[in-house]
Amino acid sequence: MTPDELKSLVRTIPDFPKSGIQFRDITTLIGHGEGFRASVAWLADRVSQSGADAIAGMEARGFIFGAAVASALTLPFIPIRKPGKLPIETIGVDYALEYGSDRLEMDPGCIAAGTTVAIVDDLLATGGTACAATELLRKAGARVETATFVIDLPDLGGGTRLEGCDVRVDALMQFE
Ligand code: IMP
Repeated sequence: MTPDELKSLVRTIPDFPKSGIQFRDITTLIGHGEGFRASVAWLADRVSQSGADAIAGMEARGFIFGAAVASALTLPFIPIRKPGKLPIETIGVDYALEYGSDRLEMDPGCIAAGTTVAIVDDLLATGGTACAATELLRKAGARVETATFVIDLPDLGGGTRLEGCDVRVDALMQFE
């Protein structure tokens, strides 16, 4: 399938979660067998070119694509969790949202020092989530050089923000 055909499988929900936001919903993309397979194949191709040793994905939609890419490339998958989910002592990073703050956590023992980890997520908006994941993975000893997304919203500046953290960004599709 072409990138344009894959883009047409993403559903846009106006005014969700609040008025004025156009929510890009990948439920319809992953609900299409060939669309899901082709999206994962595109991501896996980009990630394999980066030479990463492991894939990290952020809860929850990053798990869908990140785990599929890791399996396709026979690489380990590192789940970046929302707070309080892991049954062990974690390391975490707090980060600012438009209103309030959030936190990402991970198992500090799951990365050997110097491992190159590629981030995979469904969508890049402001880049706050991916920057926090980068900081967390680096805290655990990883090298993070690339982040690969299904969707980029370039108007929200996430690509520029990630470049500022020395992370190269690639995305299957963009919505202006
Ligand atoms: P950021 O931190 O501003 O880059 O937002 C990216 C995170 O918010 C990702 O983990 C997405 O899953 C989620 N997100 C933000 N906007 C949307 C959207 O329009 N559709 C789906 N997820 C979104």
